[in-house]
Amino acid sequence: MDLSFTEQQNALRKTVRDFVEREMPREWVRAFDGRDEFPHDLVRKFCDLDLARINIPKEYGGKGGGVLDLMILFEEISKRLAVLSWALGNILLYGNEIITVNGSDEQRAKYLPRLAKGEIMFSFGLTEPNAGSDAASIRTKAVPEDGGWVINGNKMFITGAGVTDYTVTFTRTSESKYNGITAFIVDTKLPGYSTRPIEKLGYHGSNTCEVNYDNVRVRPEDILGGEKGLNNGWKQEMKLLNQERLVLSSCCIGIAEAAFRDALAFAAEKIKRSAGTDTQSIQHTLAEMATDLEAMRQLAYSAAWKEVQRMQPVLETSMSKYFCAETAKKICLRGINVMGEAGSLMAHDMQRYFRDILILAIGGGTSQIQKNILSKVLGM
Ligand SMILES: Cc1cc2nc3c(=O)[nH]c(=O)nc-3n(C[C@H](O)[C@H](O)[C@H](O)COP(=O)(O)OP(=O)(O)OC[C@H]3O[C@@H](n4cnc5c(N)ncnc54)[C@H](O)[C@@H]3O)c2cc1C
Repeated sequence: MDLSFTEQQNALRKTVRDFVEREMPREWVRAFDGRDEFPHDLVRKFCDLDLARINIPKEYGGKGGGVLDLMILFEEISKRLAVLSWALGNILLYGNEIITVNGSDEQRAKYLPRLAKGEIMFSFGLTEPNAGSDAASIRTKAVPEDGGWVINGNKMFITGAGVTDYTVTFTRTSESKYNGITAFIVDTKLPGYSTRPIEKLGYHGSNTCEVNYDNVRVRPEDILGGEKGLNNGWKQEMKLLNQERLVLSSCCIGIAEAAFRDALAFAAEKIKRSAGTDTQSIQHTLAEMATDLEAMRQLAYSAAWKEVQRMQPVLETSMSKYFCAETAKKICLRGINVMGEAGSLMAHDMQRYFRDILILAIGGGTSQIQKNILSKVLGM
C-alpha cells in the first residue's frame, strides 16, 4: 500500500492552500460566518481556478481526477471555511459525481460540460421529515401523467436547495421499499418547486432548506440514468456512498487539523508568557490531539487507497466516516479546553470548528448508522 501523493496531487494541495490564503483571510471568514449567506463569490472564484472539472472524465472535458483529489481539496478548504466545501459539493459531488456515475449518455453530454465551467450547481434531495436515517422510507411521490411525471411531497435538510439550478430528487414510484425509488433531475425553476432555508448551529452559509414539491411536472428524460433509472434510485444512491463517506472524512480531518493548530499556537504563546506554571496537562492534551489526528488521516487515506483500487471498501469507508467524525468532535472539544474561555469567544475560530464538526457526525449517515453498517459487514 503506497499512501504517498503524486506530484499533481501535491500541486493541487498547494493551489488550494494558496487560494484559501488569498481569498479567505481569517477575519473575513469570521464575518462571513455571522452573515449565514451562501458563498456565491467564492464558488465563482474557485471555478475560475479551473478546478470544477477536476473529477469529470477526460472524454467529457474533465481532468479525470478521483476521490483522492476531492479529499485533498475538501481537507484544505475545511481547514479555513468548512462550509465552502459543502457549497463546492453542489458541483463536485451532487453534480459531477452523480451525473458521471448514474447519468445517461445524454445527461452526461448535457450537464457535465456546464458543470465543468461552474455554470450550474446541483443539490441532492433524499432526506424527508420522516425519512432520515431510514431514507428508503421516503414518501415524496412521482406519478405518471400525460407522458411525463408529476412530483408531490416534502424534502428536509437539503443543502443548497434554494440556490442550485437542479436538484436530484428521490421519489417513490412504486410500493417496493428499495426497488420503488426513482431519482429525477428537477429544474429548480419549474412551477411548484419552493424552498425555505433552515437556521442551524454550524455550517453557516450552506443554504440548508426544507423543499416543497407541489405538482412539479418533469419529463421521462429527466429520470436519472434515463429509462433504466426507473425504480433504480436506491441502487444509484448506493454507488455514491463510499466516495461521500471519504470526502466527509476529509472535511473532518481539515476541521480537526485547524483546531489542533490553533490550540497549539495558543498554548505555545500562553506558556511563553507564564513561565514556571505547570503546563504538562496542556502538553499531554495536545499530544493526544496530534495522535488522534494522525489516526484519522491514516484510516481515511488507507480507505481511499482501497477505493481507488476498486476493492469495494464498505467496511473501511464506514469506519473512516464514523471514526473521523467522532474523533474530530473530541479534538475540537479539547481545543476549547486548551484555550480556556478564549475557546468559546466569537473572536477566535475554535467555537466555529466545534459548531461545524457536530454536523459531520449527522450528515451523510450518522455515526450510529455507520456502526450499524459495520456490525452488519462484520457478520453480526
Ligand atoms: C446540515 C445538514 C445538511 C444536510 N444535507 C442533506 C442533503 O443535502 N441532502 C439530503 O438528502 N440530506 C441532507 N441532510 C440530512 C441527513 O442526511 C440526515 O440528517 C441524516 O441522515 C439523519 O437523519 P435525521 O436527521 O432525520 O435523523 P434520524 O434518522 O431521525 O435520527 C435521529 C437519531 O436516531 C439515530 N438512529 C436513527 N435510526 C437508527 C438506527 N436504525 N440505529 C441506530 N440509531 C438510529 C440517529 O443516529 C440519530 O442519532 C443534511 C443534514 C444536515 C444536518
